[in-house]
Amino acid sequence: MASATSATSAKDTLIWSFGGPVGCTLMSVLVVVIPYYLYFCLEFNQGMPIPTAGADVAGFWKSIIPTWTAAGFYLGWLALQVLLQIFVPGLQVEGVAQPDGTRLSYRMNGHRCFWITLILLVILVATETLNLSLVYQEFGALLSVAGLVSLVLSIFLYPYGKTRGQSFHTSGNLIQDFFMGTALNPRIPSPTGFDLKLFFECRPGLFLWSLFNAMFAWVQYQEYGFVSTAMILVNIGQLLYVWDCMRMESALLTTMDIRHENFGFMLAFGDTPWVPFTYCLQAYYLVHHVHDLPLWAALLAVGLAIAGQLLFRMSNKQKDTFRRDPENALIWGKPAQYIETRAGTKLLASGTWGLSRHFNYVGDELMAISWSIPCLFATPIPYFYPIYFALLLIHRERRDHLLCAEKYGEDWERYCKRVKWRIIPGIY
Ligand code: NDP
Repeated sequence: MASATSATSAKDTLIWSFGGPVGCTLMSVLVVVIPYYLYFCLEFNQGMPIPTAGADVAGFWKSIIPTWTAAGFYLGWLALQVLLQIFVPGLQVEGVAQPDGTRLSYRMNGHRCFWITLILLVILVATETLNLSLVYQEFGALLSVAGLVSLVLSIFLYPYGKTRGQSFHTSGNLIQDFFMGTALNPRIPSPTGFDLKLFFECRPGLFLWSLFNAMFAWVQYQEYGFVSTAMILVNIGQLLYVWDCMRMESALLTTMDIRHENFGFMLAFGDTPWVPFTYCLQAYYLVHHVHDLPLWAALLAVGLAIAGQLLFRMSNKQKDTFRRDPENALIWGKPAQYIETRAGTKLLASGTWGLSRHFNYVGDELMAISWSIPCLFATPIPYFYPIYFALLLIHRERRDHLLCAEKYGEDWERYCKRVKWRIIPGIY
């Protein structure tokens, strides 16, 4: 009875996530304002968080007005990614069982699309068909265009999801459901399964993030005649992160976003303007701040990046390997230990999943810190990312806990007793 009650209250909390309609409205405003604020600080305020005497406020307002150039670039970019998704061959992989027991098929061509996009961009830049300096000048306008695209997408998704995807955790309240989404997996009918959520989660935004980083390196080279060590480190670290996500694309199918979150404004905005326009902030900061990177900072950044990447990948791979074949999966060379559940799926309780319930977050956060260190400490702005990310992961773990409590009931309680720590063993 106790677990039935906690499952019911978990469900209510999930349906009214982010503080209900009022909280969702405030969150929507906040997530729209923050990328503009960061852009203002980086481009018009010398990287400082509070307006300085030299701040060019008028220049900022002028630069965020959408332009035809920005619209042409962004829509062209989106069209390219859609075409690659549709036409580049890839393995068809079955996702994990849906709430109704059915499994969706996904085309895993992300790794190929990554390389094709990269090669295409190199050709376009080398032949001067794509002018990166112009894209840089249009950054503010591009942000507004990407924001508008995500708004249109969300407006489309609200009714579309209701008829085309499985309804899950919906409230019936327009604001709440617009923010959180009306369906788990809205798809455009196609023989290979064009899954809107997976596409936006990992294509236009993630790849654009890498393109922006490369663009900042290019602009620095144009201005100074060289690319700084700090810029190189940030570019390599973040490019490897995106490449690794694409290389292990099928592991995304067992993540919380794909498994449990509806596709609405929160994810659409997060995937479309938020990721590429805020995650590139370290490289953006470095364009205008060229410094000699002390050896200790370079070593610390590289060490944290390597440690973070290894932990992140090991942990996510363990879950992916386990979920594919729980009986035969080897974790750290030994048969996986797990907890059986009445819901059918098993919960891994060995490897990093025996140390804490989300050890994968530790690796991700270490990488986030490693990308800010090359910016040194003249201003807190480059540290926005690791701070925001830590808060996101703490909140995310709480949400996932509720989702799993609702889904697994007493079995989740048993797992939590066995694996006590939420994220960092011995601390949290
Ligand atoms: P997880 O990969 O941990 O996925 C959570 C889901 O896994 C749960 O909902 C549950 O789904 C299943 N699960 C939970 N515990 C177990 C277990 N013991 N054994 C097997 N399955 C389990 O979390 P996220 O989706 O939040 O994160 C995935 C990765 O993406 C992380 O490394 C994270 O750091 C990263 N990330 C990156 C972001 C970025 O912006 N860069 C943003 C968010 C995440 P079920 O049992 O229903 O299948």
